[in-house]
Amino acid sequence: MSLRRYAAPVAALAATVTLGVAGPADATRDFRVTNPDSGGHSQPLSGRVVVIDPGHQLGNHRFPRQINRLVPAGGFKKPCNTTGTATNAGYPEATFTWQVSRVLKARLEQLGATVRLTRHSNRQDRWGPCVDVRGRDGNRLPADLKISIHGDGSYTPGARGFHVIAPTDRRPWTHDIYRPSRRLALDTRAALRSVGLRVANYIAGGDGLDFRSDLGTLNLSNIPTVMVELGNMRNPSDAHRMTSRAGRATYARGLAVAVRRFLG
Ligand code: ZN
Repeated sequence: MSLRRYAAPVAALAATVTLGVAGPADATRDFRVTNPDSGGHSQPLSGRVVVIDPGHQLGNHRFPRQINRLVPAGGFKKPCNTTGTATNAGYPEATFTWQVSRVLKARLEQLGATVRLTRHSNRQDRWGPCVDVRGRDGNRLPADLKISIHGDGSYTPGARGFHVIAPTDRRPWTHDIYRPSRRLALDTRAALRSVGLRVANYIAGGDGLDFRSDLGTLNLSNIPTVMVELGNMRNPSDAHRMTSRAGRATYARGLAVAVRRFLG
């Protein structure tokens, strides 16, 4: 869900830097593509830094005190995080965002990008990070862009499809990034459509775009950023895609196209 709040981890937070170097778990990936000698043309994102924010954390519901703590959100305060939603069968949003983010990270690294995630686990005994930490992630490098990944939880019958949320011009917080973030939103919508996904039929405007000033994750960013609600987890049709490996690969493929379009 597009958190009106959010949540943060404890010690795990310190080590938020995941440079694009393949770790042990990734070592079996295609060497030819990640090999620096493979030639620039096969790595169009070489030198680029992308931050992926997998929404929520699996254990948030077990840490209500930490999750409800108020944190800066861009001129106001709001809770650190939320539990996120789930499918009717109980597949959690935190797991969905984590799995899509992992696939997306691998795709972007194959294209030469350096990728950071805002969290490094999906565990019941962890919480967060808070929205302010997520919002600032990538500012210092600075990264080229940040995509926050979510699934929505609307109970409106028939509500389905994706939508992309970009920050409004909230001075002074987002004045520096709202224009490129809007461009990133348009690129993301086009990219998700290009892999066969449909825009949400239940968001005002019906064009798959939403502009909000109440999200700390967007307000605290100094780099172009969007939040994507990739589908409605309470809708059986969307849930079917979101719970399948092939479906999640489609979302990741679409988001990788979005990054390439934007950084093109
Ligand atoms: Zn969410």
